[in-house]
Amino acid sequence: MAVKMESHKQLSASGKEKASDALPLPLYLTNGVFFTLFFSVVYFLLLRWREKIRNSVPLHVITLSEISAIVLFLASFIYLLGFFGISFVQSLILPRSPHDEISDEDDEILIDDLMLKEDSRAAPCAAAAPTKIVAAPIQPLPEEDEEIVKSVVEGKIPSYALESKLGDCRRAASIRREALQRTTGKSLAGLPLEGFNYEAILGQCCEMPVGYVQIPVGIAGPLLLDGIEYSVPMATTEGCLVASTNRGCKAILASGGATSTVHRDGMTRAPVVRFGSAKRAAELKLFLEEPLNFETLSLVFNSSSRFGRLQKIKCAIAGKNLYIRFTCSTGDAMGMNMVSKGVQNVLDFLVSQFPDMDVLGISGNYCSDKKPAAVNWIEGRGKSVVCEAIIKEEIVSKVLKTNVASLVELNMLKNLTGSAMAGALGGFNAHASNIVSAVYIATGQDPAQNVESSHCITMMEAINGGKDLHVSVSMPSIEVGTVGGGTQLASQSACLNLLGVKGASKGVPGSNSRLLASIVAGSVLAGELSLMSAIAAGQLVKSHMKYNRSSKDVTKLTAST
Ligand code: ADP
Repeated sequence: MAVKMESHKQLSASGKEKASDALPLPLYLTNGVFFTLFFSVVYFLLLRWREKIRNSVPLHVITLSEISAIVLFLASFIYLLGFFGISFVQSLILPRSPHDEISDEDDEILIDDLMLKEDSRAAPCAAAAPTKIVAAPIQPLPEEDEEIVKSVVEGKIPSYALESKLGDCRRAASIRREALQRTTGKSLAGLPLEGFNYEAILGQCCEMPVGYVQIPVGIAGPLLLDGIEYSVPMATTEGCLVASTNRGCKAILASGGATSTVHRDGMTRAPVVRFGSAKRAAELKLFLEEPLNFETLSLVFNSSSRFGRLQKIKCAIAGKNLYIRFTCSTGDAMGMNMVSKGVQNVLDFLVSQFPDMDVLGISGNYCSDKKPAAVNWIEGRGKSVVCEAIIKEEIVSKVLKTNVASLVELNMLKNLTGSAMAGALGGFNAHASNIVSAVYIATGQDPAQNVESSHCITMMEAINGGKDLHVSVSMPSIEVGTVGGGTQLASQSACLNLLGVKGASKGVPGSNSRLLASIVAGSVLAGELSLMSAIAAGQLVKSHMKYNRSSKDVTKLTAST
């Protein structure tokens, strides 16, 4: 409040001078003096008038004091007439300033308005200009940093070595940034540097930082899933996405909520190994798939981590080459590092059993990470989740503004037939990847895993005599974690906290990450419902009426065109 009043005062002080500013006394005191004078002289003159009448003195005989009183009367009368006359006329013809009276309720608006006024006074066109995002001012570099910048520009100090050389990640980022601007001649204004913990990303999330990108986070929900309401954070720059998902959440909530099941949970890694012959490659395949060997292999695998537990091994042979797909549970971690460590242990063990085995790569793409692949769609990777809801007829019409029959038909023609025609791989949905990406970015997941995590088949069916809608999403490869990677960064961690899945779960290891996978599927369900409804209401219903339900004779229509 003090700040607001101060701003108001400053504004007045710096505004135009008013006529009243020329008075020797403040306006209210000047008015008081003239009021007192006016009524005093009127009282005096009335007394004198009564006295003259009583004593039969003619009224035109006046004393010096009476002349002075009449002069003062006229002067004060003219002043008061002028003051009230002008105020009255002003109130009639001038628009009233919203800031003439400051009430408590207006304070919040006032401060913004005042700032706006201040800005517009400084630059008259600023109000009309589009909003410009200005990065926090970057402090000029201290002299000793100037020297380091020069060394980086000249190539004497490698940019990547700044953190280890300086032992101060924020300083390293600022020096790298300045060196980059000088070598490229391009400004990085707009890319913020301040307000980020560069220590937190060292050796884990990002190398050679020069700042960070801001992405807005919106909230969809409440998403009523398995009896609990969740507010779903979505980091996106795609307008309407959050609003649309929110509408889907509303339809689910009004229909009693969605239900989900995580029916498979295992991260995969598949190295490629080579032999001198296809026969030897096949021998290893048989060895790995022999149930009696599994116990030994899992002991070797599991020794690498407290949480990584080998679940199965699946092999694919291509001539002399063998692709070995290891699947393991990974607790609350997404698990790529964990599974890789376990696989390395097993490979080291196998070399002793198969000395002629040549390990070509810890990853042979049969895993398959961050690429569309049927193996993930069929076998699953990460968490496999199915999520469903029954949306009541009246909710479909009131909230989603469409009808059950149109949704079922659109789903069949678009998500199933259309995707089949397009040769889709796991893409039997309207826009699962939109929701997956936004939730992934907000919660610190690896956004590149959106590729397989967005595999989804959306099913819609009319139930209860065609009145209500059964909708489901089946997502076989949601790859999420609540520990490791970007999940530990402050913003992402806050979003996980909002969902109640921050960090390692206190009870059963992996329950946090499994719940997160369910929430992703539930949010996708909401997104699918809303977008499909928008399409059904906007286009399909109209085309349906035109081409399927029209009372017109279609043959004539065709003939006339
Ligand atoms: P990822 O395997 O997903 O790449 P990281 O290896 O970066 O993940 O993070 C997993 C680390 O977190 C491991 O060192 C693991 O021991 C530790 N950790 C602590 N609690 C858990 C938990 N509940 N589930 C899984 N890992 C955990």
